[in-house]
Amino acid sequence: MIPFLDLKLINTQYRTELIDACTKVIDSGWYIHGQECQAFEKEFANYCGTEYCIGVANGLDALVLIIRAYKEMGEMCDGDEIIVPANTYIASILAISQNHLVPILVEPDIKTYLIDPLKIEEKITKKTKAILAVHLYGQTCQMDIINSIATKYNLKVIEDSAQSHGAYFQDKRSGNLGDASGFSFYPGKNLGALGDGGAVTTNHKELAQTVQYLANYGSEKKYHNIYQGVNSRLDEIQAAMLRVKLKNIDQENNIRQELALYYLQHIKNENLILPVPRNAKEHVWHLFVIRTENREHLANFLYQNGIETMIHYPIPPHKQQAYATLNAMHLPLSEQIHKEVLSIPLNVSITQAQRNEIVDALNTYLKNN
Ligand SMILES: *Cc1c(COP(=O)(O)O)cnc(C)c1O
Repeated sequence: MIPFLDLKLINTQYRTELIDACTKVIDSGWYIHGQECQAFEKEFANYCGTEYCIGVANGLDALVLIIRAYKEMGEMCDGDEIIVPANTYIASILAISQNHLVPILVEPDIKTYLIDPLKIEEKITKKTKAILAVHLYGQTCQMDIINSIATKYNLKVIEDSAQSHGAYFQDKRSGNLGDASGFSFYPGKNLGALGDGGAVTTNHKELAQTVQYLANYGSEKKYHNIYQGVNSRLDEIQAAMLRVKLKNIDQENNIRQELALYYLQHIKNENLILPVPRNAKEHVWHLFVIRTENREHLANFLYQNGIETMIHYPIPPHKQQAYATLNAMHLPLSEQIHKEVLSIPLNVSITQAQRNEIVDALNTYLKNN
């Protein structure tokens, strides 16, 4: 069986370095907000091209804390609206509703699965405060259009970069394409820790500081609390793991790009719809998502052929039980996407033999047998 994602194999490449880095933390006697965390924040800001990076506990917290910081800064308040793609992972929506703001769902472009920039303006009201641009599957949104809409209506642009570490839009990287960006370092992401982790990147000093205080009990210095903050810190050991992985992310993203290009060139089957990169060099292929009419049939066929697949994602946020008040909404493109998408294995541990097996299986798939 070709597994969808073999994290053990992927992390084993760096086993010695990871163990050394972990040992260093153990021996330092400093386990929260130490040198590793500080060094990682600096290195990751540098990688993204931003002034600031604040390590936090996970990707959801990163997004929650950005919006919370804007509330503390007086830029947003309860009941305000944030525009967000309808076909995102639930965390993007949770970050808005947890802050008592209202997610305004916008349909994606059916070709890229990214928020359709032409459908944003019609959703803007007096209460709109931000656009949350989700760089889904590893491809950045059309940030030139999104940023110009934001400028016109005086909105913040928040990036959800949980799937797009290292991805570009023109000459800038994900994390440096709006006012602030949330990253996840969940183990399966392009830059993955060996546990949970997240970060906020930004070029705005006040925002950076507010997020930093909020994530550490709202304290400016120990036992001096300016805000009713939370405990959302990036672990010292995870920061050390991430420093090892960060050194290799560009190389890993290159391998992903090569594999994606191979799939795009060699999968030839009219029953399958392949992803359409806007610019193959900018895309970091967190996932390689194909579409077909009868997704379960295809998934079964691939499973019979020894290929594990996954679905990202089976139920759109507005049809989730958790968002009962949105259940009556009809968003045909998002619903179609959630019904038809299937992710095939794309990661750095896929061998040439496995790659060929996957292509061969897909090319012999017939939708009616
Ligand atoms: C993974 C993910 C998140 C949340 O990250 P966690 O670290 O799991 O909290 C947010 N948004 C998107 C698009 C994601 O894929």
